[in-house]
Amino acid sequence: MDYDPDNIFAKILSGEIPSTRVYEDDDTLAFMDIMPRADGHLLVIPKTPCRNVLDASPEQLAAVMATVQKLARAAKVAFQADGITIQQFNEAAGGQEVFHLHVHVLPRHEGVSLRAPGQMGDFDLIAQHAEKIRAALT
Ligand code: AMP
Repeated sequence: MDYDPDNIFAKILSGEIPSTRVYEDDDTLAFMDIMPRADGHLLVIPKTPCRNVLDASPEQLAAVMATVQKLARAAKVAFQADGITIQQFNEAAGGQEVFHLHVHVLPRHEGVSLRAPGQMGDFDLIAQHAEKIRAALT
């Protein structure tokens, strides 16, 4: 399958669609998921195009995972989390809905289940959570 340059995350990268950014470097961007399954749920994407792990270059994967680790550590501190769940889906049959490589970072607490998918989050709360993660990055 070819990369679709009109996918939502490409539009977030170009600024065509707004997002709550928490971190970026030359190769990657981290921003808040608008349907958070846990407080602090964020996504890490490469700035260059690829659909998912199946067509990504080793360099794209390495850059994304380095940022995932950075954000996972910050989110763990920001939310005093007991653990972090990392999720990543490939193609529709693998659970992927947006076809620009992305990795989910989800702060977790003992005994607390993930919320159901597909529920829009509260924008003010998401902005507050983003600020907590940004603060933990510095
Ligand atoms: P998946 O492709 O299954 O990993 O799911 C895509 C994820 O992107 C879901 O968790 C959505 O809540 C999230 N999402 C979709 N649109 C946006 C958006 N405009 N901004 C932030 N997150 C989004």
